Amino acid sequence: MKILVTGGAGFIGSAVVRLAVKRGHSVVNVDALTYAACLDNVANVADSPNYAFEEVDIRDRVGMNAVFAKHAPDSVMHLAAESHVDRSIDGPANFVETNLNGTFNMLEVARLYWQVQGKPKTFRFHHISTDEVFGSLPNNINAQFTEDTPYNPSSPYSATKAGSDHLVRAWHETYRLPVILTNCSNNYGPYHFPEKLVPVVILNALAGKPLPIYGDGGNIRDWLYVEDHADALLLVLKNGLVGRSYNIGGENERTNLELVKTLCSILDRLRPRDMGPYADLITFVTDRPGHDARYAIDPSRIRNELGWRPSVTVEEGLEKTVLWYLENEAWWSPLLDRSGVGERLGTQP
Ligand code: NAD
Repeated sequence: MKILVTGGAGFIGSAVVRLAVKRGHSVVNVDALTYAACLDNVANVADSPNYAFEEVDIRDRVGMNAVFAKHAPDSVMHLAAESHVDRSIDGPANFVETNLNGTFNMLEVARLYWQVQGKPKTFRFHHISTDEVFGSLPNNINAQFTEDTPYNPSSPYSATKAGSDHLVRAWHETYRLPVILTNCSNNYGPYHFPEKLVPVVILNALAGKPLPIYGDGGNIRDWLYVEDHADALLLVLKNGLVGRSYNIGGENERTNLELVKTLCSILDRLRPRDMGPYADLITFVTDRPGHDARYAIDPSRIRNELGWRPSVTVEEGLEKTVLWYLENEAWWSPLLDRSGVGERLGTQP
C-alpha cells in the first residue's frame, strides 16, 4: 500500500514511517519541518526506494494537491499538528492554523483526489488524534474514556484537536469520505522531542538539572510506547471500519510523580550518579493552567474488534527509552538549542 503520512518527521509520525517501510509499504512523508521536526528520525529509511519526502505545509492547498497528484497514495495517515500543550497556552494561533485549518485543507485535498480517482472503496483518511479531546476524568473514580465519551477539551491544543476530529467526522457524514479516527493516550519512546515530560526528565537528570514536576505530580496519564502506537495505527488503517473511531491506550496508568520516580530508578541502575539518587533532583513547580487531572482509556473496542493490545508495560518501555537516550546523544544534543527547549512554557494564566 502507498501511504501518505503527514507529520512524518515528528515523534509519532516518524515511528509510523519507520514501521510502515519496514513492513513493505511505500510511504510519502509530508512535513513542513517546524521546530518539532527532525529528519534524522527517519534516517534509517531515507534511502529506501519505498520512501519519499515532501517538504510541504498541510495548509498549502496547491502544494498538497501536487503531492497527491505526483504520488497517488492509497491512503492518508494525518499526524501533522502542533502538539505541545504548553506552547498552545502561550501561542494558540499556530494551533488553530495547523490543527484546524490544516486538517480542513487536508480533507478538501483528499476529497477532491478521492473523487477524481472514482471514489475507490479502499481509500482511507486516517486522522490521528488524542484522548485529551475528552477532557479530564476525576482521579478518585474508575471511569475511563470510551469512544462515546462526550468531547470536553480544556486546552487550546485539545480544543483544536477536538475541532479537527469533528471536521473529519463531518467529511464522512456529508461527503462519504472514507475516514477512520484514533484517539490515543500519552506517548513516550525514542525520538521524543526534548520538550515533553519523559525526555525532559531523562536529559535534565543526565545534566544534573532539576526534574520539574507540575503541581503535586498527582496528574494521571495512561502511558503508551510509541512503537506500540505505530503498530496499532497500521492495524486500524488495515482493519478498522470506515467512519469508526478507536481509542488506543497503553493500559499503564501512572501519576506523573510515579513515572518520574520510575525513570529515576532506571537511571540509578544504568547510569549511577556520584551525588546520590536522581530522585533528589525532583522539583515541584507551578502547575499548568487548566491541567487535566486524569486521562484513562477504555481499550475494549480496539482489543475486542481488532485484537490489539500494547506489547510492553510502562516499566519495560521506559527502560528501552532511557537506553535509547543514553545511546543517542548525537540525536538529542543539537535539539537542545531549538527555540523554547529547556524553558518553562505555558505558565501565563
Ligand atoms: P510532533 O510535534 O512530534 O510532530 C508533529 C510534526 O508535524 C512535526 O514533524 C512538524 O514539523 C509537523 N507539522 C506541524 N505543523 C505542520 C504543518 N502545518 N504542515 C506540515 N507539517 C507540520 O507531534 P507528535 O507527538 O508526533 O504527534 C503526532 C500526532 O499525534 C499529532 O496529531 C498529535 O495531536 C497526536 N497525538 C500525540 C500524542 C503524544 O503523546 N505525543 C498523544 C495523542 C495524540
